[in-house]
Amino acid sequence: MTKIYLKKGRDESVRRFHPWIFSGAVAQVAGTPNEGDIVAVYSAEGEYLASGHWQIGSIAVRILSFSGDPLSSSFWEEALRAAFDARRAARLTDSALTNCYRLVHGEGDGLPGLIIDYYDGVCVLQAHSVGMFRAKKQICAALQSVYGGALKAVYDKSSGTAPFKAGLDLVDGYLWTADSFDAGEMTVLENGHKFLVNWTEGQKTGFFLDQRENRALVERYACGRNVLNLFCYTGGFSVYALGGGAIHVDSVDSSAKAMAMVDRNISLNGFAPGMHTSSCADAIEFLSSVEDGKYDLLIVDPPAFAKHRGALKNALRAYQRLNARAIEKVASGGLIFTFSCSQVVDKEAFALAVFSAAAQTGRRVRILDRLCQPADHAVNIYHPEGEYLKGLLLYVE
Ligand code: SAH
Repeated sequence: MTKIYLKKGRDESVRRFHPWIFSGAVAQVAGTPNEGDIVAVYSAEGEYLASGHWQIGSIAVRILSFSGDPLSSSFWEEALRAAFDARRAARLTDSALTNCYRLVHGEGDGLPGLIIDYYDGVCVLQAHSVGMFRAKKQICAALQSVYGGALKAVYDKSSGTAPFKAGLDLVDGYLWTADSFDAGEMTVLENGHKFLVNWTEGQKTGFFLDQRENRALVERYACGRNVLNLFCYTGGFSVYALGGGAIHVDSVDSSAKAMAMVDRNISLNGFAPGMHTSSCADAIEFLSSVEDGKYDLLIVDPPAFAKHRGALKNALRAYQRLNARAIEKVASGGLIFTFSCSQVVDKEAFALAVFSAAAQTGRRVRILDRLCQPADHAVNIYHPEGEYLKGLLLYVE
């Protein structure tokens, strides 16, 4: 196994269990590792520190283990079992009302570069690194031991996430299926609501599981309200709003594929078509054309405006502009659920953007709640960068 020696004094973050070694901290590479190989990390003094996946780029190693052993044959099974146990503790694995959740959330589960979402027996895997991509057969075998007979299929959807330049054969497809498995769309349950999930055609792994708790909160506040759900994707928030007694919901997304699923999800849950309107449109243009006071509950859940640090300033400006529009338009006594899923925008920066937006409108605004990602999108305490979803529930007088 290739040994990586760190520069003097650059071992501190590893000793605090941070899962990344930056290339600037590396003094010597004793060997010629290929991207994705497991390498062992040593201090300048020659003390073993950790093992992980070797990467080309600003992050040189993504750490999988801080223990003295190189990765053992039972590594994947133990890691996935530990991830499962954390979901079980959060009462996600044995719920009669919810049968979909994130099983593995990268660094949050000590498995940097790996995402696995669970949809009622189907695991959808996304490798964000060459090392994880290469390990997918072992990961698939470990999923079979963790879930046993409950596992229906394992689907690899890494073509859009794994580094393509590494010459990998990036074709999405099933790594394993049970004999009885019928590939295609699936209906899952989330807090008792039904949703169609299509992991082959949909965005990410097919559904945004990270908004489950915030959707439940919308349900609590929706009674008697006229709702506008912006950036709705397949209508998660819309279904919950109707479930909570909203009078009417308008859903807007620029993706025609997503909008087709919204209508089906509304009828799947038994709501009359007259209670809901779908618009395939640019959310910002749609919001600009809305008459003031038409809606008294707004959901604003845009895609990440900043995908990297360099885009931060423009992203903050975009969040401010969008939120100013929302605050300006909402009826008095209205509520706004506003979110940012940009990892580089931290909660203070987001709150500041929303504060500036409110100040721009001059309206009186209260923060009723601070929103975040749920238990199955856990944050590794040693890697606070893993906190990416943040939101505010605003009450506008
Ligand atoms: N709220 C959703 C997830 C939103 S993800 C849920 O609960 O499932 C962000 C969504 O924004 C995607 O569906 C994407 O298609 C949509 N989107 C991106 N740019 C947009 C734009 N300019 N106008 C409207 N929708 C947009």
